[in-house]
Amino acid sequence: MYGMNGKLLVVDLARKKAETKAVREATLKKYRGIDALAKKYLKNDDIVIMTGPMTGLLGPCANRYGVYCGRGVKAPNGTLAGFFGPELKLCGFDGIVISGKAEKPLYITVQDGAVKFRSAAALAGKSVDARTAALAGQFPVKCGVLTIGKAAEEGCKFAAVIGDRLYSGPAGSGAAFAAKNLAGIVANGSGKLEAADPDKYWDLAMAARKKAAQSKFAIALGSADARVSLAAAGELQARPLAGYRNLERRVDRDAALPVSVERRRGCYSCAIGCRKLYRVERGAYKGLYESPAPELADVFEDECLVKNTGALLKAYELCRNNGMDPAECAAYAGKIIRKARKAGDAKAMLEAVRKAVSEGKRTKPAAAYGYDFAAVRNKESNAFAADLGMCPFAAVSLSASEIKALAAAALGKE
Ligand code: SF4
Repeated sequence: MYGMNGKLLVVDLARKKAETKAVREATLKKYRGIDALAKKYLKNDDIVIMTGPMTGLLGPCANRYGVYCGRGVKAPNGTLAGFFGPELKLCGFDGIVISGKAEKPLYITVQDGAVKFRSAAALAGKSVDARTAALAGQFPVKCGVLTIGKAAEEGCKFAAVIGDRLYSGPAGSGAAFAAKNLAGIVANGSGKLEAADPDKYWDLAMAARKKAAQSKFAIALGSADARVSLAAAGELQARPLAGYRNLERRVDRDAALPVSVERRRGCYSCAIGCRKLYRVERGAYKGLYESPAPELADVFEDECLVKNTGALLKAYELCRNNGMDPAECAAYAGKIIRKARKAGDAKAMLEAVRKAVSEGKRTKPAAAYGYDFAAVRNKESNAFAADLGMCPFAAVSLSASEIKALAAAALGKE
């Protein structure tokens, strides 16, 4: 099937064995999309990483992949952006099925068809940034890195895998990796993916990239100005959930404590670039902070009632760089500081986030965070595009017919 390799990498950590499993075309067609194919191969205690048919194609933000943990692992499923999914696909694999537990912590390198198991002893105790740099250093040019952080090693129950330094997998996925003594996976592929109608796909993909890049939503994602984000949400008829709603309250605060965007970056094949480097220009939390989306820091405001944007960015950085899910980390910190009657206290919040690294327990956040894409006008197409491997932030700027035409040119009419 176009867009798919028809191969999975099957890894047994206990035996340090990796083999290739062929996936028949009929199976790929029947279980089309990240969710269906991942669930088809997911067994009780296993972990499945799965790409979608468009992941790795040079389209508008075609980089999404899913991390699924079996019922025995007790972590929800979720998809991530970044580089790891496309690199895995360019190695010739559509996904990885991981079973067993390694005797000692190890990480896996996948370079095209070659798979190696290496000791992760040198990574222990390091930050996500340091681990990602060490794993990326395995390859000379480009690669995708999926790693756990210190929180997973120290027993935090909502520890998450982090893709390419910034993108959090589902809460508990990092703990699931650690339970298998799997510290990370790094992929570097040199393959090529073919669209069903390459010329038509190229034209449609370039037009879609332009439209996504010029949309008000894309401009809003790159802005530190809360008013811009809110205006874009209104235009799209998207419903900002908790976190984004905080933006309105943040306008005046950020004027008093200037927060600017120093730089924007994108994931593989991204036309938007929502990864931002924020500069907090003064105050106790003066400095540079990287965050893919504003709500990831703002969840700490909702849960901990802290109003200082610098402190919120710092909390998110501590959370990300230790490998934790932001929503559950914020909920856990909020619970601790409310109990100590310190809600709103930035220092107490940061202390609670540090405590979560070794003591974090699953804690239900008070609200859902991000945008409610179901409220967006092309909601079916948006979910459809995300399942094929496209970042929803790009899909949301395109019409249903544009997404369907892209998918048909990429995958053929089936
Ligand atoms: S919009 Fe953001 S999350 Fe989506 S692909 Fe681009 S940089 Fe990544």
